[in-house]
Amino acid sequence: MNFSNILNKYSWESVKNSIYSKTDNDVKNALEKEHPGLEDFKALISPAAAPYIEQMAMKSSHLTQKRFGKTIQLYLPLYLSNECLNQCVYCGFNSENQIERITLNDDQIIKEVKAIKSFGYEHILLVTGDFPEKVNLEYFKNVIRLIKPYFSQISFEVQPLEQPEYEELVSLGLHTVYVYQETYNKQKYSIYHPKGKKKDFVYRLETPDRLGRAAIYKIGIGSLLGLEDWRTDAFFTALHLKYLEQAYWKTKYSISFPRLRPHAGRFKPESSPDERELIQLITAFRLFDEDVELSMSSRESRKFRDNSIKLGITCMSAGSRTDPGGYANCSNALEQFEVHDDRSPREIAHMIKENGYEAVWKDWDTCLQV
Ligand code: SF4
Repeated sequence: MNFSNILNKYSWESVKNSIYSKTDNDVKNALEKEHPGLEDFKALISPAAAPYIEQMAMKSSHLTQKRFGKTIQLYLPLYLSNECLNQCVYCGFNSENQIERITLNDDQIIKEVKAIKSFGYEHILLVTGDFPEKVNLEYFKNVIRLIKPYFSQISFEVQPLEQPEYEELVSLGLHTVYVYQETYNKQKYSIYHPKGKKKDFVYRLETPDRLGRAAIYKIGIGSLLGLEDWRTDAFFTALHLKYLEQAYWKTKYSISFPRLRPHAGRFKPESSPDERELIQLITAFRLFDEDVELSMSSRESRKFRDNSIKLGITCMSAGSRTDPGGYANCSNALEQFEVHDDRSPREIAHMIKENGYEAVWKDWDTCLQV
């Protein structure tokens, strides 16, 4: 069984119609439930829930503090490569864009690592495009061995791999993999991913299944907000989450909320949620799932990120660069997207403290995980 078998039972348009037909009463019922189900989740993300966002935020804040305490875990992406064979229309690394391409070598990676360590980080998120000729299993194995002495947790946001490849990387210390479906709209997916391996909707969709079978510690999923109707994509993300939690119950899960940002291409998003709708989405996920990690990147504005830590977010990037070599200034590569909140990690940690929360640079050691 894979998630694609589940997804095939649903029609995008019927789910969309069902979300948009939810009523005031549906929202009230959902808010009264201790454990809202998928139909309740539809109500919470529907337009009918707009007058209840403050109530949802209070409940989300309470649930988050009960489960996670007043803590925000910090992470930083390390872009290893901007080489890519794919042509995702919304991405600055799209193979059609005429930009300087680079894949960091060992010396450049260590320079980046030392710059990142000077900020205080113990967790690292490694990011690449999709260029298997250079950036492949052997490259990943080498990078993990190279940087493992510096970090207690290593996460990936790279091209989807095969289950045996994940198993090998997990045995070397890979902790978490983030793989966003971008959109669960199968009919429209190929418009946004016209070329390259990422064009294969089902292979990408089944990546979390391969990760679960490889016994990875944590899987991050989500959709790119603004590609398609964000409410319908949110429902399918929630459906995916519930499926994975049941199928691979030993694994932990994370949801991210990336909204489309300006980049080097020409694609303009049709329907991104505004900030109030983004709050609705974050808090709906918390009400739906008390245990899931909710993550917020530096794509969002300072003000929004400052407010979001009290609403249900448990994990946040700080001081991010999205250009390979950007921390140690060892390349002139272009950024994947514009970072909106450009404060340093220390400034973010200070902001978190001012809000009465604690910034967590290190969660726990791998040897303590069960
Ligand atoms: S989103 Fe990823 S796969 Fe797509 S073009 Fe950008 S780097 Fe390549």
